Amino acid sequence: MDEVTRGKLEAIRQGELSVVENVQRMLERIAKLNPKINAFIELNPDALAQAEAVERRLRRGEKVGKLAGLTVGVKSNINVLGLRATCASKTLEDYIATYDAEVIKRVRAAGGIIIGMTNMDEFACGSSGETSAFGATDNPAAPGHIPGGSSSGSAAAIAAGMCDLCLGSDTGGSIRNPASHCGVVGVKPTYGLVPRQGLIDLAMSLDQIGPFAPDVYGAALLLEVIAGFNPNECVMLDAKGVSYADELQTDLKGMRVGISPKFRELTDPKIMEVIDSAIKKLQDLGAEIVEVELPHLEKGLPAYYLIMSVEFFSATRKFDGRKYGKRIEDVCGDEVLRRILRGRHISRKEYRGKYYQRALQVRTIIREELMTALEKVDVIVGPTVPKLPHKMGEKISVSAMYAYDYLTIPANLAGICGGVVKAGEVDGIPVGLQVQGKVLGEEEVFRVLRSYEAVA
Ligand code: GLN
Repeated sequence: MDEVTRGKLEAIRQGELSVVENVQRMLERIAKLNPKINAFIELNPDALAQAEAVERRLRRGEKVGKLAGLTVGVKSNINVLGLRATCASKTLEDYIATYDAEVIKRVRAAGGIIIGMTNMDEFACGSSGETSAFGATDNPAAPGHIPGGSSSGSAAAIAAGMCDLCLGSDTGGSIRNPASHCGVVGVKPTYGLVPRQGLIDLAMSLDQIGPFAPDVYGAALLLEVIAGFNPNECVMLDAKGVSYADELQTDLKGMRVGISPKFRELTDPKIMEVIDSAIKKLQDLGAEIVEVELPHLEKGLPAYYLIMSVEFFSATRKFDGRKYGKRIEDVCGDEVLRRILRGRHISRKEYRGKYYQRALQVRTIIREELMTALEKVDVIVGPTVPKLPHKMGEKISVSAMYAYDYLTIPANLAGICGGVVKAGEVDGIPVGLQVQGKVLGEEEVFRVLRSYEAVA
């Protein structure tokens, strides 16, 4: 799998594969597989026309962008002009986006073809892909198991080869979790590296848009297209564009790679076996393995669920039925309602200083812990999700669902970056290696992901 994206781009550039053919083949594959997998909930009726336009530019020798001719699936919480941005909720089932999100403008300018909107947990609230108002998504890499969430359709679409690249969003793990369960590459960028304009908020202090791809090169390429300052946003980093894809290296000499005993405490031993052998390979590639302390890591989970719920409650007040037709509380699913009620409850005036503020204090502790650890090492590696994905339809408790997020939430609380590559399998189910990096440490993260991919 490790050169799929580069190979496809080459074939398109050389004229061995036309852009129109590429889109047609993907649409055929979607028609065949989607009824079972349910990764896409809407297709772009203009995809072929857009493919023709890119094809014409290519054949005339005009300048085309880095994604020229590649098909891109988009999570349904990102606005794409003329397509539905439903957040997989009945609340927004009739909402057709009136503009392109900033990341979509950048994808189009780079020659990417938006092929359709992908399924997700309702309003990105979930870790299994089962809470969508449009039905659950199957895991193409482990059929009958959940694909993870909340960017369930994006990860499944890549795993099933229904499109070349996908966009997802990650607030507490929603890119990394399904990437791990579906055996694909997914990256949550540093907070503030990628514009959020046009992303429908789950929790705005945590949300980031990021790439999914079948290989590290594809994820690096899509990230370099969408990353970088947007003057219309106030909480962005003034980060320069980096050519992540050109910089990919496959050795780890001189790199300091952190591991934490905390990961083993929280994770299924079968998953840890796979991760341990991946770490051994990183060592063989020249990395120096260094133990780091993350003593409060697990406290991130309750802190996240408080902070996210307060921010989500506030973000959903605009869905009061006046502008978008339906009042969210009247039509949403149980999990979304639970978060709205929790957020409303804990942000009441009489609870001032009790929940939200304490959660913010924990957030500071976690951030400092990770920052201190990342002064000693270049990256921290470990598992992505502490448990294997459950079977579709199996009932699990709310707390078991939240517990899937133990290992991914800390990066969001700290605002650092993290990426996932397939480490191996347990009983035929993919398991992802998570590589967390510093603020704007994407290059180091990609270096480890790519090096591992090359020997895996
Ligand atoms: N699983 C987490 C939640 O349910 C993370 C979701 C996300 O990153 N969007 O909130």
